[in-house]
Amino acid sequence: MRNMRARFTAREWIFLTLGIANITVLVILAYFGCNLDGHRPHSSSEVLVALELEPNFTPKWFAQECVGAVTVGFSVENLFDMVATWCNVRRSQRCRQLCEKFNGIYSLSKREGQVVLPDTFVPKVRKWLGGNEELLKQVNRQSVTSVFNIYTHEGTLFSPLRAKRPGSGDFSPDVDKYIDELNRNSEKDCDFCNYKTMTAQSVFPRVESKLTASASNAFIYDGFHGLLFPRSHHPVKFSEEEVVDMMQTTIKWFKAGYNVDRSFKYPHMMWDILPKASASQPHPHVQVSLSPDHHYGQMEHLRISANQYAADHNRNYFTDVIELHHALGLTVKVGQAVAIAYLTPRKTNEVIVLSKTATDDFFRLIFYVIQALFDQKIYAISSATVFPALHHFENPPANDLPAMSRIISRGGATSPRGDISAMELFGASNVFSDPWNVIANVQKSVYKRATRS
Ligand SMILES: [Zn+2]
Repeated sequence: MRNMRARFTAREWIFLTLGIANITVLVILAYFGCNLDGHRPHSSSEVLVALELEPNFTPKWFAQECVGAVTVGFSVENLFDMVATWCNVRRSQRCRQLCEKFNGIYSLSKREGQVVLPDTFVPKVRKWLGGNEELLKQVNRQSVTSVFNIYTHEGTLFSPLRAKRPGSGDFSPDVDKYIDELNRNSEKDCDFCNYKTMTAQSVFPRVESKLTASASNAFIYDGFHGLLFPRSHHPVKFSEEEVVDMMQTTIKWFKAGYNVDRSFKYPHMMWDILPKASASQPHPHVQVSLSPDHHYGQMEHLRISANQYAADHNRNYFTDVIELHHALGLTVKVGQAVAIAYLTPRKTNEVIVLSKTATDDFFRLIFYVIQALFDQKIYAISSATVFPALHHFENPPANDLPAMSRIISRGGATSPRGDISAMELFGASNVFSDPWNVIANVQKSVYKRATRS
């Protein structure tokens, strides 16, 4: 698990010393404003504006002041028109500032496309639309809303009509039966229920608690690559206490690996639930890994983008993203963590949970978001969580990522069809879930379950 790039021969040391001398010259040139790579240099004061989770206004104030007394009815379908109204408000300086922030991060457009249905094809489309004549009329002229993040280059094409198709989620009514059978059939020979004899171990002792056990992945994808799982087997019936404990134990696992080799300081946690979401075992488990050098590519891209934003605007990128989602009513806060129904979701139902670092509130909110999907019988879920680097884990500077978890649904658990196509892998995200519906479900879950806030 060594970071091989950290080892040098005597000859390499000579080159390294010469390299350091060259770098020193380059740093001096950059400091005095010589633009060597086309980007202006960042000063530390520009990138160290701290993350703030709670704006000092309410979504109700925003709706009334910036959109004109509208308190309900925001949807992705009217997002384009609503932003146009908001950005034309002249009387409120605060509304204008928020509009400038929105336009500083997002590029928004609405496209219309016409579709011609031959008479012979109409009955089939009518059937797809559950016999709804009004929806059938909308097929002829459809609108697509595009949201593109100028800094992170995340882009989503929202197709609301696709969402209106009955059963468009493809969630089988037999999904509970499928889960019951999966649980019964996998319990007897489960490797994780017999982890002491049937799983590999890392070079450090297993990190465990009363509710959580751990193993090394037998086929690692990074220098340290482990698995943490609750002691109970059921694929989707796990409690808040079990999830919070598993994630607290995950942090102990990260620190145990970091203590073996301090060059591995970038922690990640991946959680796929059910085979449909690529989980290799039905027993719930998170994949944990430590990486040297930097966060994994997509997350590092986000960190670099956020720092570029900070350098350009002298503000914290994540604070502004949270503020804009808060204005639009797309956030819910639990203690020191906030969940946002993201305006540029990677896949259907994406919610991002943010906190300065790995707090219990952060873990609880991840649990509530997952339960919001379970409440809708959406059980195939993937989430990717990144934490600040371990050398400043408890008090990370603003130029590192905060603790951040991205949670998406992965299509019908029983559907044989893959949920990711070439479009999502190599083009743009095509999403039919409306962020305002997504946040309403998360809010319901939080109100139902959070006893502390
Ligand atoms: Zn098991």
